[in-house]
Formats: sequence, C-alpha cells, structure tokens
Amino acid sequence: MQKYETGLMWFRRDLRVHDNAALYYALKSCKQVYCAFVFDRDILDGLPRIDRRVEFIRESVLSLNGQLRNLGAAAGNPDAGLLTAHDGAVDAVVRLAAELGANAVFTNHDDEPRSLARDAAVQTALDAAGKAFHSFKDHVIFERQEVLTLAGKPYTVFTPYKNAWLKKVDDFYLKPYPVEKYGAALAPVSTGRRPVPSLDDLGFGPSNLSALKIPTGSEGGAQLFEDFVGRMSQYQATRDFPAIKGPSYLGVHLRFGTVSIRQATSVALRAMNPENSGSQGNEGAATWLSELIWRDFYAQVLANFPHAVGGAFKPDYDAIQWESGDKARVLFQAWCEGRTGYPLVDAAMAQINQTGYMHNRLRMVTASFLVKDLGIDWRWGERYFAEKLNDFDLSANNGGWQWAASTGCDAQPYFRIFNPVSQSEKFDAEGKFIRKYVPALAQLSDKALHSPWRAKPLELATAGVVLGKNYPLPIVKHDEARALTLQRYAVVKKA
Ligand code: FAD
Repeated sequence: MQKYETGLMWFRRDLRVHDNAALYYALKSCKQVYCAFVFDRDILDGLPRIDRRVEFIRESVLSLNGQLRNLGAAAGNPDAGLLTAHDGAVDAVVRLAAELGANAVFTNHDDEPRSLARDAAVQTALDAAGKAFHSFKDHVIFERQEVLTLAGKPYTVFTPYKNAWLKKVDDFYLKPYPVEKYGAALAPVSTGRRPVPSLDDLGFGPSNLSALKIPTGSEGGAQLFEDFVGRMSQYQATRDFPAIKGPSYLGVHLRFGTVSIRQATSVALRAMNPENSGSQGNEGAATWLSELIWRDFYAQVLANFPHAVGGAFKPDYDAIQWESGDKARVLFQAWCEGRTGYPLVDAAMAQINQTGYMHNRLRMVTASFLVKDLGIDWRWGERYFAEKLNDFDLSANNGGWQWAASTGCDAQPYFRIFNPVSQSEKFDAEGKFIRKYVPALAQLSDKALHSPWRAKPLELATAGVVLGKNYPLPIVKHDEARALTLQRYAVVKKA
C-alpha cells in the first residue's frame, strides 16, 4: 500500500483496537494516524431519546479511547487517543481530514445501502480535496463476491454456501491483524480534543443497560465470550430453550465489532478440531460456527441483492395482501405490547421490550406469529425489531424476517406455520421463561400455562388469572388464522 505522512482512522462498527483491519493498514502505511469516531446525527437524530444502543456505543467508544491510549503508551506515545464528533458523518469526516492534514482516510466496509451512499459521499469529497479513501473487510470472514457458486453467482441457498465457505476458510482469513506492533504511529492528540461526549451532550437519557448488566466495550465482549467458550460444547443441546443460558449473547458485540469475528470463528473451528474435542467431536462448536456462517450468508445476500431491503427477496411475494387499516393497527399494537393472549409470544415481546434481546427461537416464533397468525406485513415487524434489538443488524434482521415470512431466499416454505402453543410446550415446557416475563400467569400449572383459555375456570381462579382482565384472551384462533394464511399465500402458488 502507498505510504502517507498522515492518516485518519474512522471507526464505525468496529469499536476495538485488537485485530482491526483498517487500523492495522492505517498504522502500517502512515507516519502518524489520528483516530476518530463520529456520533452520526443522521442516524442519532431519528432515534427515541432513550436507546440502549446509543449508550452501548458511547461506553464502547470510551473503552476504545482507553485502548488507543494504552496502545500509544506501550509504544512510548502517551498522548494518543480518540477524537470524537457529533455531527453528520460526511461533514465531520471530511472536516477532520482537512483540519488534521490527513492525506488518507481509513475505514472498514459497511455494506448497508445507506452506509454505502454515505461512504460514496465521503469518497467524492475526499477526492475533490486530493485525499485518498481506503476501506477494508473486517466485519465478516467472507464478504460480497468472495464465495460464489461454480457458475460465478452469489449463493442464495444456505447449505451449499456453508459448504463452499468451509472449503475456503483457512488460517489466512482468520489470522488477527497485529495492530499491537504499530502503536508508535498513533498521532498525539491534545487533551482538550479528547473527551467523549456524555449521553446528555448527545441528547439522550440513560437506559437500563447497566441495570441489565450488559457488558460493553471489547473488555465486555471478551468477558461474555470467555463465559460462552466454557459452554460452547453444549450449544447444540441448549440453544433452543429460552429459559436456559444456551446462546452466547454476543450479538451486540459482533454488531458493533467489540468482538472480532476472526477470533470468534477461530475459537469455534479450533474447538471442532478432533484433536481438541476428542473422538466425539464438538457438535456445539460446529452448530455455533454455522450460526456465524449464517451471519456471513445474510451479509453477502444484502451486498449482492439490496432489493431485499424494503421488498421481498422473491418479488412475487410482494403481491400478498396483508391486513390493513384499523384492524391491522390494533393487531400489530397487541403484538408489540405482548397482549396477544399466546403466553410464549407475549413473554418474548416482553423480553425484547424490557431488555433489547430476544432469544433466537422466539424471534422465529414471534415473527411467524405476526405474519402468519395476524396477517401483518413482515416489514412492520422488521421495523419494530430494528427499533428494539440491541444487536439489530440490517442484513440478519431482514434475512430473519424474510425467512419467517417465506419471502426470503432460503426461507421457510409458506405453508410451514409455527403453532405458538406447541412451540411453547416444546421449548418452554416448564414455563420458566413465560413465568419470568408474564408474571400474571406465574401460578398456573405447567400444563395450563401454554394455553390458559383451555384451563378449567377453577384452575384460573386459583391462579388469580382473569382472562380478558389481567391476561388477554387470544386475539386470533390459530387454526382459523392458519387457514386464512394459506389463502393469503395462494397468490404466490399461482405466480
Ligand atoms: P448465538 O446463538 O450465540 O449466535 C452467535 C452469533 O451468530 C450471533 O450473535 C449472530 O451474530 C450470529 N447469528 C446467529 N444466528 C443468526 C442468524 N439466523 N442470522 C444471522 N446471524 C446469526 N441477528 C442479529 O445479529 N441481528 C438482528 O437484527 C437479527 N434479527 C433477527 C430477526 C429474526 C426475525 C430472526 C428469526 C433472527 C434474527 N437474528 C438477528 C438472528 C439471531 O436470532 C440472533 O443473531 C441471535 O439470537 C443473537 O443472540 P446470540 O448472540 O446469543 O446468538
């Protein structure tokens, strides 16, 4: 790569120093590198004034500042640190590059359509100012057109994609970028320019992030990861049960890059290696790796098929007539607020509303319920999850919703419709999860808990449940809804 006098490293969804591709290339190719994070008003101004993600980002940016200071200090460079701005990202980056006399800006790829447009605007402005713009893959193992079919086309079906992915992956793609060797190239930053704005400065109030004990920054990511590594071998057996601590809870860290995807993948691959896992193999690690590959899969779907944002991946499915008007609004509101009368769905919606997390099994159940029991356009649910999920990621969220709605590339067939009661009986048999999030039902027996409207009046009365008063009656009958859905999707069968 060309050598520069001064570079500017622009952090976005890669809030860590360790194993950061763009930071490595910046430090290696510039005599001095300034580092910056922009609290982007184009994104932040549209958010509600309390948002866990903003708090997560701010705390992770504080941690990043500390990591840069440590990296500098270890190289005899005590004045290193992070610059921050609170502005539109394009203006802020172009202005910082001018003020700091940077010859080149370095950043990591972000393939969401809005981010690509933002980066194109930055590139145009930097070109006009005679400055270079360099962007690198960091967020996934394979991106864009790196894994293609034999015909040279992007994959749209997961299993062959996964096989090709596994065939291609090797140490070259997983090796960490040795950023630590290059701390001496960090530019000194005057103390006056270093403070990270408070939440209040950014116009936000505190959320319940710390009460939820969601650890932030790359230290927080490392702590969660370490905890998960000890239970990775049980992932396959436990991951479907929302009352069990089965999954990694790393979604938000992978989203904001406070955990390196190369590190996560390497650990899973190492655990799968028969030399490390014994003759039994490690089914848990293999299944978890598959989830990380799903993440790459959806990222490349987004990059190669951006029409899936806002419309069905399979355009025929845009002909489906969803519920509309007041009826749709009332049903949707009940779903959002966890008032559907189906305990597992309501508990799951309480989980997302209270914590910003929802267990994967429940994302599938609630998404299917919204689309196939209530007949609501999947895009409404996609938008709701985008507002609420701490780990919201456009590619995975869009992929997940289109999977559940059967409109996606490698989706559930439209006639496969989750039964919210049998899902509940199967995956929360003892009702531990439901009791936690729907306390009104806590005293019901395990049997009655999944469908309280079937319980005997005496049992309901003994448990203090008054249907229609302190817990709703079901807003739809599943069997009728199922039949309606099959009719609704008939337009696709004809297409
Ligand atoms: P783990 O089970 O420990 O999995 C590890 C990591 O693998 C996750 O953190 C995530 O990065 C990735 N991953 C797992 N499953 C998937 C998947 N199906 N697709 C893509 N990546 C996956 N995931 C998001 O990261 N952001 C979203 O906005 C999102 N929205 C979803 C919406 C719907 C309707 C559905 C069905 C799934 C969605 N998922 C999303 C996928 C999945 O539910 C979450 O990644 C997972 O529940 C996060 O919890 P975890 O970190 O404990 O996951």
